[in-house]
Amino acid sequence: MKALKELGQNFLIDGSVASAIAAAGEIVPGEIVWEIGPGKGILSEAILRYAPTLTAFELDRRLELPLKEKFGQRLNLVRADVIRYDWSELIIAPDYRVKLIANIPYQITSPLLSKLEANREHFSRIVLMVQSEVADRLTASKGTKAYGLMTLRLQLYFNISILMRVPRELFDPVPGVDSAVIVMTPRQDSPVLRDPELFFQLIHHAFQHRRKTLRNNLLQILTKPQLVALEKQDKFDLTRRGETFSEAEFIRLCDLIASLRHVS
Ligand code: SAM
Repeated sequence: MKALKELGQNFLIDGSVASAIAAAGEIVPGEIVWEIGPGKGILSEAILRYAPTLTAFELDRRLELPLKEKFGQRLNLVRADVIRYDWSELIIAPDYRVKLIANIPYQITSPLLSKLEANREHFSRIVLMVQSEVADRLTASKGTKAYGLMTLRLQLYFNISILMRVPRELFDPVPGVDSAVIVMTPRQDSPVLRDPELFFQLIHHAFQHRRKTLRNNLLQILTKPQLVALEKQDKFDLTRRGETFSEAEFIRLCDLIASLRHVS
């Protein structure tokens, strides 16, 4: 069977890595487990050592029969594009909680992270193999090159850590990038945003041109008098670049901008 590049088909060939990913799910009896892209089933097999059944989304219909033959009724195969699929078909109750464990096709990383963000209350633990560079961005600290929009968006709702790095040679065919496994758990101390729309607009602009100062980037959403007022009001040094601002500083900035807009 020819691996399809457009479906991100780089199959994991190392059983010990699959076992480590499944173990990181910390599955407890009775929990609902999802996988995205079971492929030939190396990770599904490892997950099924901990869970009696597994729900898995797979877009490639050629894999349906081999997967069914291998796992039978224990695998609830959803033959669909996980991004287009309406998750509310499965998430049937407000207290529905899922553990998601997957080696994802890398081209769906951004839309998948957005979808996870939107449905975050339903995920108790997420273990994902992603591109190494994405893992760096998701776990980045303020002031580093990897720190940016993706970091702030996802760290707002999840604690994220890197479980392990996975070299490209452990996949077939060998991809052009290295990988890493990340673990995401819901953040208990997630800050409540007064104006989420403005906050996301702010961080979007703050990182739009990374080499520019925050002041120059903010000129896209604020007038010059508003900027001057902002600098005076809280002694914010807006000549700093966006990457030097912490989450708390962005939130404070956002609140100030909201009040400035209110009066002007
Ligand atoms: N889990 C297997 C492994 O570790 O070897 C396969 C991982 S492979 C990187 C990604 C898998 O996702 C492929 O089986 C591919 O067919 C499937 N896939 C690609 N796009 C998908 C989508 N939008 N929805 C569901 N599955 C998808």
